[in-house]
Amino acid sequence: MEKIDFSTLTIRSAAEALRGGSYTSVSLVGALLEAVRQRNPALNAYLWIDEEDALAQAAAADAARAAGSNGALLGVPLAIKDNISVAGQPCGCASRILEGYRAPFDATVIGRLRAAGALFVGRTNMDEFAMGSTTENSAYGPTTFNPAKPGYVPGGSSGGSAAAVAGGVAVGALGTDTGGSIRQPAAYCGCVGLRPSYGRISRYGAVACASSLDQIGPLTHDVRDTALLLGIMAGADPRDVISQDQPVPDYVAACDGGIRGMRLGLPREYFSGDVHPEVAARVREYAGLCRGMGAEIVDVSLPHTQCAIATYYIIMTAEISANLARYDGIRYGRRGEGVTTTQDLYGKTRGQFLGREAKRRILMGTYFLSSGNYEAYYMRGLKARTLIRRDFDQVFETCDALLTPVAPRPAFPCGTAEDDPQAFYLDIFTVPAGLAGACAISVPAGATAEGQPIGLQVVAPAFAEERLLRIAAACEAAGRRTEGQS
Ligand code: GLN
Repeated sequence: MEKIDFSTLTIRSAAEALRGGSYTSVSLVGALLEAVRQRNPALNAYLWIDEEDALAQAAAADAARAAGSNGALLGVPLAIKDNISVAGQPCGCASRILEGYRAPFDATVIGRLRAAGALFVGRTNMDEFAMGSTTENSAYGPTTFNPAKPGYVPGGSSGGSAAAVAGGVAVGALGTDTGGSIRQPAAYCGCVGLRPSYGRISRYGAVACASSLDQIGPLTHDVRDTALLLGIMAGADPRDVISQDQPVPDYVAACDGGIRGMRLGLPREYFSGDVHPEVAARVREYAGLCRGMGAEIVDVSLPHTQCAIATYYIIMTAEISANLARYDGIRYGRRGEGVTTTQDLYGKTRGQFLGREAKRRILMGTYFLSSGNYEAYYMRGLKARTLIRRDFDQVFETCDALLTPVAPRPAFPCGTAEDDPQAFYLDIFTVPAGLAGACAISVPAGATAEGQPIGLQVVAPAFAEERLLRIAAACEAAGRRTEGQS
């Protein structure tokens, strides 16, 4: 078998090769495990892999094929963020407090992918409980990956998944996105990452971070792979109350639709002085490419963008403080050492096994929710969220989708964010779509002069994923054409 390059192998071509008999799942997974052995020690993209189990899953897929099965993903290995449950595998959210915990059941998305034949080979690194933008908040060491610069952050919190895909140790991956955790690492690593609309994909079996914002989504080598995984995972699920019963169209077919006649907005607040000039220039260049493909480009305004970070960090920390209350040493994960009283049990367990950022946010959230502060912070946050949502509702009355940068600046060296909180809160352009419940995707859009990947964000109204993917696929194709020329 010729050597497989996992930094470019798409899910569709792997599935096709398996179907056509070019290789078996056992040989594909064997080659992947070899790549992981070589590259993961430097990347730290995977926190856990059970080689024997991965090969056993692959052998079962090969046997199923021989017996006539032909699922869309039969025999294709995927990498899963460490906060999405796969039965029998660790699900530790890169936190010491969940060390030793194994998921007793499959998340709904895992069940659906499994039914399509996918294999689950490993758990990817992340910021602890999905809090962060660099994957440095992992209790198990940072992931480092950047195609241009060694020692640079891959983004976060799904940095392990993005680095696994772009760094050549995964065919495709899942992440979660609360305020940008799929889109921003995809942008930093140079792959595609989708945050679906709130309610498009069931979160049952994903560990809750901030429940009014959390979504699961794919990170892949190209837009069509994302469309493929979305189509398999989307749809109603009675086990997630926010999941909606909306039709699931053929998302892969949607990628061929083109963008002729669409109106695409450039929100002026996303091109202000704080944005790195090369990032802004690239997004404008892609807007020009869209014009060349028959779309109309219009200037629009989302006036409450400036409130988005404050609003997000009030709501997200309030929700995380409630959601993380369950990690107290009684039911899940580890118990503190030297415990003698109930008070001790909570204090020592959480004191010893939660990381700094988790503690910081629990404190902030508890403060915002405490009586006396609730009205001043939490209620105001909810009101500001309504204003942000209305901005999007209004803008989508005049245009079909938005084109924006994913992050204001390209990736930076590991270890520098702690000293510069503004660099750390990199989510100014990704949190608003989440607060509004819209869908959004990050598509590679070239690189800086230094070779650092730049992400283009496309944002579309809730449940307009078909349109979102049409635009994303058109931008991807146009980008490849222009890069081919240069
Ligand atoms: N970077 C954001 C945060 O730290 C987003 C995290 C996420 O989407 N899970 O909260």
